[in-house]
Order: sequence, then C-alpha cells, then structure tokens
Amino acid sequence: MKLDYDRIKRELSIERVLQEYGMLQDLKRSGPKLSGSCPVHKGDNPSAFNVSLDKNLWNCFTNCGGGSVIDLIMVLERVNSRVAVQLGYDFLGIELTNEQSSIYSLKPLPFNLTLDPDNEYLRQRYIDPNTAREFGIGYCKNGIMSGRIAIPIHDMAGNLAAYCGRAINNTQPKYRFPRGFPKSKVVYNLNRVIDSGYDEVAVVEGFFDVFTLHKAGIESVALMGSSLSQDQKKQLLSLEQRLVLMFDGDQAGRRGMEKAISALQGKQPLKVIYLPENVQPEHLGISYLKELLPNRGNAEMSI
Ligand SMILES: [Zn+2]
Repeated sequence: MKLDYDRIKRELSIERVLQEYGMLQDLKRSGPKLSGSCPVHKGDNPSAFNVSLDKNLWNCFTNCGGGSVIDLIMVLERVNSRVAVQLGYDFLGIELTNEQSSIYSLKPLPFNLTLDPDNEYLRQRYIDPNTAREFGIGYCKNGIMSGRIAIPIHDMAGNLAAYCGRAINNTQPKYRFPRGFPKSKVVYNLNRVIDSGYDEVAVVEGFFDVFTLHKAGIESVALMGSSLSQDQKKQLLSLEQRLVLMFDGDQAGRRGMEKAISALQGKQPLKVIYLPENVQPEHLGISYLKELLPNRGNAEMSI
C-alpha cells in the first residue's frame, strides 16, 4: 500500500492543520473562506493569505504559492510532498505501514562546502554552470573534497547527507565517498524526483547521467553503481512514477539491469532501454534523449 495523497487531500482539512499549528485564531472567517496575513511568510499584508474551506485549497498572494493541504504542510515544514503526506497521516491518526513510512535518513551533514559551478572539467562534460547550480555541484577549492568536483548527496527527505568528490585528473579514486558512507542504502537524486510531477523517472548508474538527462528535461535517479541493492529497491518501489531502467551498455550494466528487472517486475510500472555497446546515458545527445523518453508527463499543479 503506497501513500494515498488523495486521501490526505480529502480527509485532512486545511483548517485543522492551521489549528494544529496555532495559526487559526489570527485568521478572519467569512462564510466558507478564511483570510488574513500569511502565517507562512509572516508578512503584514492583512489579506495576503486566503483559504477556501469548501474546496480545501489555500493561496498566498505574496510568494508562498498555494494549493492543497499537502502543499501547505510542505511550506510550513519545509519538507517534500512525501514527508508532508506522512505528516498528514499523523494528523489524521492513521498508522503508516512499513512501506509507507520508509524514508531513508542519513545523518544530516553539519556543514556546507563552497563550490565553484563554473569549471573547466564540468564544461568538458557538457555541464553548464546553471545545471551545476541546480544540483549544487562544483569545483571544491578548500575543504574535504578539495581539488575535486564535489557532488552533494541528500537523503530521501532532502537533508544534505554527504559529498562525493569526482577526480578531475587521473587521481584515484575516481569517486571519493566519505569513509563508511552507505552507498548501497542511498538512491541519488531521489529527493528531487519525488516532487518533479513527471510520470516517468529514469534509473541510471552515475551522477553525470543524471545531470545530462536533466538537461533533456528527463528526471532520473542514480544507483551510484550498476547493482540495485535491497534498500535501493525499497526506495524505488515507494515512488509513484513509472521507472525507466537505462544502465550503461557494458557487461556490468547489462547484468545489473537483468537483476533490476527481475527485482522490480510486476511491482512497479517498468520500461527498459538497452543502450548500444559501450554507450552510457551521459553520451547521448539531448534530442535523441527526448525522442527516447517522450512521456515526461504534465507537471500539473495540484490546485
Ligand atoms: Zn505567504
């Protein structure tokens, strides 16, 4: 049983959530509407925030956005939709099953590296500064990954959990992870695709595959290797989207893909793309990728 987003939208009223947060008493009620200054950004415009009680929708005219009760919990708690729905279950007093509560949480990292997104190595791999900024990657001059391209890795809830450092010359290892980092328990980029609104998510091996696909408008996650672990499998199965397996076109990739197919088949909508010999998703051109994965879905708002 997956998380039921619609049930939360149906059964959990915005009024109830505002009450839980102690924000209800400051709002004016007139008929089926609440209005007042916005409890999210805490501005002083007395009519910025509006709630339609019968539609169970809210809206802030300033810049907090609006939408369903899930969107409200997202902005109040600064969490992604998955965590917001889990909190919604909490408010309703409904217990979560194991699958519903799965949210792999690493220890949040207590610092941030300062990184330069405008880097020659990245340009050589066709990663422009804007794409680098979107993923928070860049050249690390000082710090734990100095002399490398540092790639921030987040847990499923979006907390920064670690940096991986990609060598930019022939330094070994090619990818440096923090000592003891549980790579097999993490699916890279999962926290972002949860709210992408796309109905397909590609599953690839490496970070740079994810960056390249993103430039083609395709959201993807990376296993940071060619084999799908049990933990990674559980996390993929918790997604709502169809999975598109696209591993590297080499022996390890093919073997990994066969295993992943048998692990996921029948449990999740699945599509498989076999790449030619020695080709990785990263090598494919943007227009070719767009043709390969036309079903990017309509990132529609929940309002
Ligand atoms: Zn606001």
